[in-house]
Amino acid sequence: MSAVASRRVIPIVDRVRSPADLPLRSPAFDASREDGTAASRPADRLGRPLHDLRISVTDRCNFRCTYCMPKDVFDRDHAYLPHTALLTFEEIERVARSFVRLGVEKIRLTGGEPLLRKDLERLVARLSTIEPPPDADGRPGPALDLTLTTNGSLLRRKAKALKAAGLRRVTVSLDALDDGRFRAMNDVDFPVRDVLAGIDAAADAGLGPVKINMVVKRGVNDDQVVAMARRFRGTGHIVRFIEFMDVGASNGWRLDEVVPSRELVARIAAVLPVEAVERDYAGEVAERWRYVDGSGEIGFVSSVTQAFCGDCSRARLSPEGRLFTCLFAGRGIDLRTPLRDGTTDAGLGDAIASAWRARTDRYSQLRGSAPATDGRIEMSYIGG
Ligand code: SAM
Ligand code: SF4
Ligand code: SF4
Repeated sequence: MSAVASRRVIPIVDRVRSPADLPLRSPAFDASREDGTAASRPADRLGRPLHDLRISVTDRCNFRCTYCMPKDVFDRDHAYLPHTALLTFEEIERVARSFVRLGVEKIRLTGGEPLLRKDLERLVARLSTIEPPPDADGRPGPALDLTLTTNGSLLRRKAKALKAAGLRRVTVSLDALDDGRFRAMNDVDFPVRDVLAGIDAAADAGLGPVKINMVVKRGVNDDQVVAMARRFRGTGHIVRFIEFMDVGASNGWRLDEVVPSRELVARIAAVLPVEAVERDYAGEVAERWRYVDGSGEIGFVSSVTQAFCGDCSRARLSPEGRLFTCLFAGRGIDLRTPLRDGTTDAGLGDAIASAWRARTDRYSQLRGSAPATDGRIEMSYIGG
């Protein structure tokens, strides 16, 4: 057993993929290469390559999901970032280009609620022009996978423009089909039917198959799991059941409110037979299952009971330009200052690659034994 796996401490964690199981795919970044070809993809201190970038474009939201932005904390007096602190679309594009030069193949826009950021489609249009650098033999790299996670409230209005701007796919969050339950969970009385209309609009615009995120809390919405599976089975959309996580410091997380994915698989399998599917690639967050009758797929994101730090390849950019290398981090690296001080592309790439190379994060593997992190960032600030 590797050193990482042997330090596992929480009994509910039943499977930990160790970084030692992963091939070390990339040597260190060489910031001196500025010939337009792919710079080497950096690997962190546990051998995990940089593959994905999540960009949070705002820390504001029009929902107050009880597990993310509880109203008593995120009230009128909450200190949101002022607009001048946010990276501009030009600045975000520049950072994104640096990440793509370092081997990032997938970018997800998130928040807060990303569709609250004015004219977000202008940012999508900019990002969609980013071409991955050719490989060492001059062959073009895979096209950038550009996606967005949204609560769906503004999707009906925005889906066509987002597609036209170059967005590939969307993930829509929906925690219940029962209207009363959903209104209570989003805590702003937002109806289910409008989110469903947003999902339909996304599919009609060509942004499907849509992934549908459902955060499951025991005693709150776990009775909705089978109904959600049934509702989207056969539609081509993929529901992903997410274990309630202890992100940030304000959502009152309790272990007894987490429903382990294993339990959910069993509940669904009892009425809709399913079988496991291989992951598409190392680092894919959701564990995939499909209905044996061929009527579609579902996924499970099990950050609490089956930590997947071992192949976590995601970097996160905050709305005001801080780079975080873990969802549970307390501190990020400031990229906005060098950006605004006129750093070169090589300087920016070097700052990103150095941060990634220094990375040792594996919070979920150590959950419970890791020393408490000061001022842990909130989900609504950094995005899921
Ligand atoms: N507002 C958008 C939305 O809700 O889709 C994007 C941002 S939201 C922070 C991204 C995802 O994180 C959502 O699917 C949300 O349900 C999930 N999320 C938020 N808090 C969570 C928590 N404590 N545990 C697990 N997932 C959470
Ligand atoms: Fe807003 Fe998304 Fe958080 Fe809900 S989960 S409060 S929609 S950021
Ligand atoms: Fe990645 Fe941190 Fe989550 Fe582990 S805890 S999977 S390192 S974001």
